[in-house]
Amino acid sequence: MELKTKLTSLPGIGYSLSQKLENLGLYTVEDLIYHFPFRYDDFSNLTNAIDSQIDQKVTLRGELWSIQNIHTRNGKVLTKAVFQDGTIPIELIWFNQSWLAKTLSVGDKLQIAGKLTKYQNKLSIIAPVWEKIVDLGPINKNEGIHTGKLIAVYPETEGISSKWIRTRINKLLDDVLPQIEDYLPSEVKDDMLDLSQAIRLIHFPENIEDAEKSRQRLSFDELFLMQLISQKIRREWKNKVAIDPFEINRAEINKLIDSLPFKLTTSQIKVLDNVFSDLSQTQAMNRLIQGEVGSGKTVVAAIVAYLTYLNHFKVFYMAPTEILAFQHKRTFESILAPFGVKVGIYTGSQKFTKVKKGQLQEDPDIIIGTHALLSEKLISDNIGLVIIDEQQRFGVEQRGIVRSKAKIPHFLTMTATPIPRTIALTFYGDLDISIIDSMPQGRQIVKTHVVPARKRKDAYKFIEERVKNGEQVYIITPLIELSETMKSAKAATEQFHILQKMIFPKLKLGLLHGRLKPKEKDQVLNDFKDRKIDILISTSVVEVGVDVPNATIMVIESAERFGLSQLHQLRGRVGRGNMQSYCLLFTSSDEVTQVSRLKNLETISNGLKLSELDLKIRGSGQLFGIKQSGRVEFKIASFSDLALIEKTREEAKKLLEKDLELDKYPQLKTKLHSLTGVTTPD
Ligand code: ADP
Ligand code: MG
Repeated sequence: MELKTKLTSLPGIGYSLSQKLENLGLYTVEDLIYHFPFRYDDFSNLTNAIDSQIDQKVTLRGELWSIQNIHTRNGKVLTKAVFQDGTIPIELIWFNQSWLAKTLSVGDKLQIAGKLTKYQNKLSIIAPVWEKIVDLGPINKNEGIHTGKLIAVYPETEGISSKWIRTRINKLLDDVLPQIEDYLPSEVKDDMLDLSQAIRLIHFPENIEDAEKSRQRLSFDELFLMQLISQKIRREWKNKVAIDPFEINRAEINKLIDSLPFKLTTSQIKVLDNVFSDLSQTQAMNRLIQGEVGSGKTVVAAIVAYLTYLNHFKVFYMAPTEILAFQHKRTFESILAPFGVKVGIYTGSQKFTKVKKGQLQEDPDIIIGTHALLSEKLISDNIGLVIIDEQQRFGVEQRGIVRSKAKIPHFLTMTATPIPRTIALTFYGDLDISIIDSMPQGRQIVKTHVVPARKRKDAYKFIEERVKNGEQVYIITPLIELSETMKSAKAATEQFHILQKMIFPKLKLGLLHGRLKPKEKDQVLNDFKDRKIDILISTSVVEVGVDVPNATIMVIESAERFGLSQLHQLRGRVGRGNMQSYCLLFTSSDEVTQVSRLKNLETISNGLKLSELDLKIRGSGQLFGIKQSGRVEFKIASFSDLALIEKTREEAKKLLEKDLELDKYPQLKTKLHSLTGVTTPD
């Protein structure tokens, strides 16, 4: 078995499980051993029931005396067992795990762990962790991986429990740890743990010090590698000559601004000023624009693109998805075509802009596309500006371009992700940041409601009324996955048929998912824009950037499966005009924690606050695919560990000053290449 071995080739991992693993971003053996716990349960207190106190976390060894399922009046199943460790009996209770009554039988010898409580006046442990043991002889610290010690608790997903993850990782470690190379140079590593040791101990620490030490090592690596990447780019960047400074033709720019159907907000004007001043310098611009969803970043980009055009340079605009590339093409055309600007498109599967021998055949002034833009040798010296919308792989785009060009263009990165400044610097290297911190006038807060199953009918009625009123609706289907798979496409398709037949037979429904051909996607979105479709059923592909101001209702099915930030992004698709808009979070979960988590969206409309909440809540056992939307996330390092961010920055700097190409550190170099995917020969 190797680190790159696919999880699906392990015994017992079939299609359905692999789909669930994908939800956690786990594809390979390496992904799994790099799936780190976010906390530990301290079950190291191996004791007897009679010596334990209420509220204490304990591990007990004993025998099962009875076990049975009890059906409650509200349709739930309780599994109740009596457990005896030779001192006093304890009742064990599990909710909705009726299979346990088959897995466990009377007489089984178990080690169980959990918190001692009084339940219905009996000494009990609710939902204890358990594992079978061979005999009840003297207590052995090394017996068991789920009880009796510090126990790792992992980000989970439906159908993948911490216990499952622990079991699997335990089986893999001996096999794969010897294959892990410690790529850190010894002078950087200092007295930190070995990498393979750190990986073992993060999952199975003997004590809290072990856990802490391994966390330190792994956090260090995460930040250090990131620092190396961004600093390397920055150095390469500084060594390059920029294209000639732009002339800022105010009169022409103002004509464009006056042609817009709205007045720019003061934040937009301020940001434009920042950008213009960068563009008139001799050093190439590297600026990040941060702005809440709907704050109007696209118009700013269009104006900057126009200035570039006036200076006789071409513009590359990199969108995160094909759908958005098409949409931005339309937006840019509607704003800029009256001024004689030609807009072309270039994506992986749709090359409307023809290329021959590395030369563009048509001659658009602005080329909008996806990452495919980088894969061809399209980057000629007359590119003056590269705009990157919702950058996904930090720095990689810049690196590719910087390396392939003699004179570097200006860079403008745009993001709705509210990341703190220090973090932005870590991810994007040495850049300047502008913030669009106000919303266009007349915007109303999107009214948000968590809708339980029993209120769904009312919600559908409400939707129908709004549609009759001329407004439009998105319905996001539940499956969320890292990549659009057949399965999510199928779920969306089924949903579409059910809604069309059973719920909204008189309305026009459209269907959008990642498996459609680019032209079909574009057609659907066009139809939606042109109001030929009332309700758009979609997977979360609409998450970033789709802009249809007449859409006023966003319905999200199984909202509990999404992170708050992601829900906020989805919600940002409505409330883009002046009409009152609504976000309906459908959930059939009646778990109190889930519902109250979702209810945060009813009162909070600030993206930064919500992303902070996501981070906090994750600590209580939920993980949502922040990763899938390409947004910045650490696996283990913390946004708030400024000291470590600073330290890794210094270490990266020292190392690169010694050896910019890292030729003396081939393992580290290989590691960096594997992260950036850039394999240009040096
Ligand atoms: P985002 O920052 O999420 O990319 P967009 O650029 O898509 O936001 O803008 C959202 C909507 O707001 C668009 O329909 C756009 O035309 C509109 N818009 C942008 N700037 C203004 C403004 N100053 N006043 C009114 N509407 C605006
Ligand atoms: Mg946008």
